Amino acid sequence: MKKEIKEKFTELYGGDGVLFVAPGRFNLIGEHTDYNGGFVFPGAIDKMIMADIRPNGTDHVNVYSMDLGEKASFGLNEEDAPKEQWARYIFGVCREIIKRGGRVNGFDAVFAGNVPLGAGLSSSAALESCFANALNELFNDNKFPRMELAKIGQSTEHNYCGVNCGIMDQFASVHGKKDNLMRLDCRSGEFEYFPFKLDGYKLVLVDSRVKHELVDSPYNKRRESCERVAKTLGVDTLRDANMAMLEAEKDKISPEDFRRAEYVIEEKDRVLEVCDALEKGDLQTVGKCMYGTHEGLSKLYEVSCEELDFLNEVARDCGVTGSRIMGGGFGGCTVNLVKEDLYDHFIETAVNKFAERYGHEPKIYPVIVSDGARRYEEQ
Ligand code: ADP
Ligand code: MG
Repeated sequence: MKKEIKEKFTELYGGDGVLFVAPGRFNLIGEHTDYNGGFVFPGAIDKMIMADIRPNGTDHVNVYSMDLGEKASFGLNEEDAPKEQWARYIFGVCREIIKRGGRVNGFDAVFAGNVPLGAGLSSSAALESCFANALNELFNDNKFPRMELAKIGQSTEHNYCGVNCGIMDQFASVHGKKDNLMRLDCRSGEFEYFPFKLDGYKLVLVDSRVKHELVDSPYNKRRESCERVAKTLGVDTLRDANMAMLEAEKDKISPEDFRRAEYVIEEKDRVLEVCDALEKGDLQTVGKCMYGTHEGLSKLYEVSCEELDFLNEVARDCGVTGSRIMGGGFGGCTVNLVKEDLYDHFIETAVNKFAERYGHEPKIYPVIVSDGARRYEEQ
């Protein structure tokens, strides 16, 4: 990737820029917990966006996307928003830095990536984090702390890309650390690194490559259910609720809302249980919790789909240690914790059985937990 980027840069602009990278992310456990003030437990992966960047002494930005074979140019004022969707991520990052009192001048850039788009690995956060970190170094002497870089990416999605996302993706892309996962407390914004040793195990994503488009905005409906129950229980968010409180108000809560809240409360505890288990090197318990999350997302939160339940079943039948839906649901990937000696058998079985049933093969992405956004250094 690096060589092609460098060559393209020289061809387009002459000379050489500075290379920056930022990764996509996965989430071991803690799904639909962010907007409930709970915990998430992501890590950065070894798939990334790489950009070669050089200030050009003008007030214009020129960017070339290798993967799309497209060039975009834009100014840095609010009315200069480019029409290319992919360029809006970069424009948004520039604008959000400027809005926060930072500096961005014109620059030339070439970038490429290997984070699969729209698979739930957050290629968009990788793109934002790569540029936010680079522009912070090139124009701002790194004055913005790393959490602010994550917020710059998040605001970019909100204000320039029409995606009302939480902070997890950008947080993980910016803060990632090799061989570590990060438990983020979405209420306080505090986080902690947990060494993640996979002795004798592998982590792998199985991408169903389906995405069910649903008409009645289920994401917003889930949020509303959670907010209603929190209000009934007299708490700010379901982070402050437990099952006893929920049971006590059962007759004031619809059966559907009850199921939603039950999932969220259980999931919050599962994240904490997984962290404890990891510290003890107990991957069996980690796996058990992952199955618990899948079950909850499927039966209580009702954001699964046939294909994901099928992949989960196949994992269980193969004796995989842990497996669950990753991401918002209704399609995308499962994340699987697999004993090494079972790995090949599981992958083969999952690919074949899925293809037999749904007419296309799932994609397989082994997860290597890696570093976050940084200036690229030769290893
Ligand atoms: P994801 O779940 O992968 O973040 P999104 O729809 O949020 O999916 O973001 C994908 C968008 O990000 C793409 O449509 C494109 O605009 C931009 N993007 C991500 N990676 C690249 C890339 N390698 N080259 C160009 N644009 C990219
Ligand atoms: Mg995204």
